[in-house]
Amino acid sequence: MSDLDTSLRADLDQLRQEGRFRPLVVLDSPQDAEVLIGGRRLINLSSNNYLGLNTHPRLKQAAIEAVRAWGAGSGAVRSIAGTQSIHEELEARLAAFKGTAASLTLQSGYTANLAVLGGVLGEQDAVVSDALNHASIIDGIRLTKAGRYLFPHRDMDALQQRLEEARRDGRRRVLVVTDGVFSMDGDIAPLPAIVERAEAFGAAVMVDDAHASGVLGRNGRGSVDHFGLEGRVAIQVGTLSKAVGVLGGYVAGSQELRDTLIHLGRPFLFSTSHPPAVVAACIAAIDVMESEPERQQRLWENARHFKEGLTTLGFNCGHSETPITPVIVGEARHAMALSDQLRERGVFAQGIGYPTVARDQGRVRTIVTSTHTKEQLDRALEAFADSARALGLPLHPVVAGASQA
Ligand SMILES: *Cc1c(COP(=O)(O)O)cnc(C)c1O
Repeated sequence: MSDLDTSLRADLDQLRQEGRFRPLVVLDSPQDAEVLIGGRRLINLSSNNYLGLNTHPRLKQAAIEAVRAWGAGSGAVRSIAGTQSIHEELEARLAAFKGTAASLTLQSGYTANLAVLGGVLGEQDAVVSDALNHASIIDGIRLTKAGRYLFPHRDMDALQQRLEEARRDGRRRVLVVTDGVFSMDGDIAPLPAIVERAEAFGAAVMVDDAHASGVLGRNGRGSVDHFGLEGRVAIQVGTLSKAVGVLGGYVAGSQELRDTLIHLGRPFLFSTSHPPAVVAACIAAIDVMESEPERQQRLWENARHFKEGLTTLGFNCGHSETPITPVIVGEARHAMALSDQLRERGVFAQGIGYPTVARDQGRVRTIVTSTHTKEQLDRALEAFADSARALGLPLHPVVAGASQA
């Protein structure tokens, strides 16, 4: 074994000792309400396929036709090889959907955040960021030389203090950044309060709606629409990989923002754009979101039913307000054991532990979709109850009539 591999193996052994070594789970099926793993059908509570669009016939058909019309790949980065009109069509549709002057698509939500933070902010500027923001925002912040001002999760007094500091430090642009829906807890950012504070300091707001688009707002337009804050959030980042069901990221905002990213957004400049099939499927997804609002409605009905079932059984679902429902059990090894037990009982839901969440906040994260049937959700609830019993996990069932502490 080479020296490098010996050294890597030592680190991996450390992960194993901490119970953090998790082999990839191989699926032999599409990401649907149920998935095929090792020859068994399991109820899937792990995907971000909120609206079931991933397997929607209109998206599949659009992708197939685009391959025939445009080919398999896009050729190169758009600033060099030219940009195919289908890319521009998707961006016009996204801007109209989000109610902004313009939009730009990137290869993923991850690279969208890198493009914005790296492209918009320089040394004289400030980024004011919620401590629980997504890893792609954290990595984007690492790419900038802007001053960093973190505030504890959803703490609006602290946000105000950071804004004061940024102004006292004489920063040029000040950008407040938050997830719209936080991916580990499923809670919603207090966007109206954030916007008010930012406006008081002449700061701009950026919201990452990866888990909010398709979920919040009319037809899934996202958190800005949900809160009625049109025109007051300068930058809306979104992903095309979750509810939209395909792959990619986008930035919606002004024409100036789009032009800036085309010239200064490094993932835009140095990495090839989407294949046409991906773009066409995304356009079809917007069509479906506009014409089949019942999907979003079913998503919320399912989320409410499942969350209510879990809390009735006595599980701790934290502060979830959306279809992301964590089942918090404490140490990472408990979360992994619960996930394993669930798997044996026909449910696929991943355990998440430190360092993704705090040490005592290990959890099994569940996401229901619009395509789960009530029967599937009830079977999953039964599996949760049986697994907890098998592991001797303490539950705190809600007693009818009793007030909750
Ligand atoms: C998933 C996620 C991303 C990354 O999106 P991809 O399209 O998968 O790269 C970015 N931000 C947040 C908040 C996310 O949850």
